[in-house]
Amino acid sequence: MNKNSSNIMALAPTTSNKRETVCIFGTGDFGRALGHKMIQSGYPVVFGSRSTQTSSLIPKDAEVLSHAEAAQKATIIIIAIQREHYNFLTSLAEILHGKVLVDISNNLKLNQYPESNAEYLAQLVPGAKVVKAFNTVSAWALQSGTLDASRQVFVCGDDMEAKQMVMDIVRAVGLTPLDQGSLLAAQEIENYPLQLFPMWKFPILLSLGLVAFFFFYCLIRDIIYPYVYENKDFSFFIAISIPNRICPILALILLALVYLPGVLAAIIQLYRGTKYRRFPDWLDKWMLCRKQLGLVALAFASLHVLFTLVIPIRSFVRWRISSQIVSQVLNNKTEPLNNTNAWLSDSYLALGILGFFLFVLLGITSLPSVSNNVNWREFRFVQSKLGYLTLILCTAHTMVYGGKWFLSPSSYRWYLPSAYMLSLIVPCAVLVVKFVLIFPCLDKPLTRIRQGWERNPQHSE
Ligand code: NAP
Repeated sequence: MNKNSSNIMALAPTTSNKRETVCIFGTGDFGRALGHKMIQSGYPVVFGSRSTQTSSLIPKDAEVLSHAEAAQKATIIIIAIQREHYNFLTSLAEILHGKVLVDISNNLKLNQYPESNAEYLAQLVPGAKVVKAFNTVSAWALQSGTLDASRQVFVCGDDMEAKQMVMDIVRAVGLTPLDQGSLLAAQEIENYPLQLFPMWKFPILLSLGLVAFFFFYCLIRDIIYPYVYENKDFSFFIAISIPNRICPILALILLALVYLPGVLAAIIQLYRGTKYRRFPDWLDKWMLCRKQLGLVALAFASLHVLFTLVIPIRSFVRWRISSQIVSQVLNNKTEPLNNTNAWLSDSYLALGILGFFLFVLLGITSLPSVSNNVNWREFRFVQSKLGYLTLILCTAHTMVYGGKWFLSPSSYRWYLPSAYMLSLIVPCAVLVVKFVLIFPCLDKPLTRIRQGWERNPQHSE
């Protein structure tokens, strides 16, 4: 036999590749979308429906039969019906005995019922092998093929063989099965699609709180104070000046809050002399949303860049520059170049540009497509070493920007310091503690603790 013909043989379909018929109960949105995808993947599909009349919406290669007739044609039956209508399945218990029933249902509320829908199905049809799957995939994504964000299918069930059969189908339709264990995990899997950005809640609420605080703080200092004492109306500051003050402040504080839990964890571990005791819950949760905190900080830093770019075209700024020129002309006096000021201004701009560049780099490396392509050491180098460098540059940018006014009485209106001074508290605290932790007398025991050493071992041999 020549080489070409053997290749052709290898590519030709063999009888062992033939897929088993799959039955889907329910010709609704999800049933049709999944049926369509399965037919494309080579599965013969038979629908079990209350009405055997086929319609143009139903995939054309699929058969539509009564529930009892359809169930007899397949070992695997996907129940694409709402939980509220599962009752009728008890009348089919005999036919469904020994079959694999795939529960794909979701609820409207978290923990809506005492037991998961899959466990409820298993109680209704005790002779069947129930597997939970597909509930985190939407009918729309299945139909339109936009499955990039939701390729993972969580699968759980008590029967290993049944679970394996369902996972084969998941793979065949181009998705990735994730075995979550026994049917007990179904409740948790059913709760996944009902969660609303769980990791983003804390960063977003915190940012909103800080934005509100700094907005009113700047409003009092920069608009109400000059109005009361100098009768000047600077209310237009609300549009650009105040947001351009709040954005860098938020970016800096949130970036510092990304690194603060790590520093706190180090202190706790040093104090306890072990890494084998759990951190308090609030610290655990804080550590889990550091990436989201960092991304929100990056969003504020990007807004600061945009607001800064429009400064030269602002009417107020153009008026101030022209009135300074006119006053110099009228007084016939040219202000000499202040070299110190020029240095300070160029330095804080350079620090800001470098800080923002590293900020963007941190954001890019936190994207799954990038972080999946670097090893653990590279990831830690970027997120920890470059992260601290970013914090140092951004803190220095703020300090050089306002450093010369720190002791000036005009910076304290109604005894309130400028907002940027407040923004330096958390980053400076993080950097000072981190610096102290680098000293060998603390760094060495901390490294040993993180490698498993305990000051007072709990379980001595
Ligand atoms: P749907 O469009 O309302 O379809 C449900 C189907 O259930 C109906 O078309 C009907 O099929 C059948 N049905 C309705 N009442 C019945 C009853 N009293 N007795 C027997 N069968 C009945 O709903 P769906 O969006 O396809 O959702 C189906 C299941 O998939 C739900 O449990 C849902 O939580 C889950 N799910 C849906 C999505 C999604 O994106 N839509 C995503 C994940 C999970 P026949 O007329 O053919 O009998």
